[in-house]
Amino acid sequence: MKRILHATKFAAEKHSQQRRKNADATPYINHPIEVAEHLARVGNVSDEDVLIAALLHDTIEDTKTTFDEIESLFGSRVAKIVMECTDDKSLEKAERKRLQILNAPKKSAEAKCVKIADKTCNLASIIVDPPSGWNVQRQQDYFAWAEQVIQGLLGVNEPLDYYVLETLARGNAKLRKMT
Ligand code: ZN
Repeated sequence: MKRILHATKFAAEKHSQQRRKNADATPYINHPIEVAEHLARVGNVSDEDVLIAALLHDTIEDTKTTFDEIESLFGSRVAKIVMECTDDKSLEKAERKRLQILNAPKKSAEAKCVKIADKTCNLASIIVDPPSGWNVQRQQDYFAWAEQVIQGLLGVNEPLDYYVLETLARGNAKLRKMT
């Protein structure tokens, strides 16, 4: 429990200057908290390291946080899961997106769970409150790409799989109606 609260505070400090891309510019920290909560509630995940990795999953990619910092505070297992959820920002966006599809099936079971919860929360956010400036086509493109990544992440946690596929179907149905 102490470690989970520590990770929540750590992530809140790291993401304190960031906002989500939705119209209301929700504080960024809402997202990792949502991902960790989804893992616990829907996926029945009780492994503290996995929940902590979920709370920290965007810190290396989107803030100045380093692998060593996470390793020293939360241990190497957490740091490795976070690293598996981190895109290489030195690459072009299109290449990063291609690699996500390619690398999804190679990830550890723990990282697959965090990634599936991450994608679920991102898709659910787009359904209710899309990023400002995203037209229907852009949302459809995102869903089509996310579906390919998700295919490589399935098979570890049945309720997480069920829920992400349901979210994909719900979003695709809504977007079809809008075209
Ligand atoms: Zn995320």
